[in-house]
Amino acid sequence: MLTATEAEGPGRRTAIWVQGCTIRCRGCFNPHMWAAAGGTVVQVAEWIPRVLDEAAGAGVEGITLLGGEPFEQAAPLARLAAAAQARGLSVMTFTGYEYADLTEWARRRRDIRDLLGRTDLLADGPFRADLLDRERPWVGSANQGLRALTERYRGLECVTAPDRVEVRVGADGTIAVNGWSDVDALDALLADLGTRGDKPCR
Ligand code: SF4
Repeated sequence: MLTATEAEGPGRRTAIWVQGCTIRCRGCFNPHMWAAAGGTVVQVAEWIPRVLDEAAGAGVEGITLLGGEPFEQAAPLARLAAAAQARGLSVMTFTGYEYADLTEWARRRRDIRDLLGRTDLLADGPFRADLLDRERPWVGSANQGLRALTERYRGLECVTAPDRVEVRVGADGTIAVNGWSDVDALDALLADLGTRGDKPCR
């Protein structure tokens, strides 16, 4: 989790990565998040207010759910999203599934219906390394959709803007990178920093 970032959706946001994704796109930047095991196991009832208190303290406008695959943990994330919206925060969700499939599954899956219903801005579809998108912010490839599911971000579907990457250097010298960047440019940056760390999370 990143309490405050400006590289994972509109404005300043709290970003939450979930562990586990069965889609397994070729060229995925987060293959270390494919396995269901890993990450940090949390007790949702206690974790949600703590996350939202941290988000409020950081003055963010919303939360962003990324993976891994959020719709493979839709029920607890729908609870988080509902609690975030109740506190006036927006919700952006990234998914490797197609919106058309999600809406179809939502007819019989309450967890999917609930998370879709609590998402203001959805980035959907699998990452395609052969269709890199260099025009729109946040999404990685041209096949992916950017959909305003509520009025909150209406108009953002058509926005064009440079991709953004954030680099944090800790007091102990650790370097953390998030956001989205051209892979070659990021490799050059990491080489300049003297590391070959994880590629950006998306
Ligand atoms: S790009 Fe997203 S949907 Fe595709 S394998 Fe990676 S985490 Fe899963």
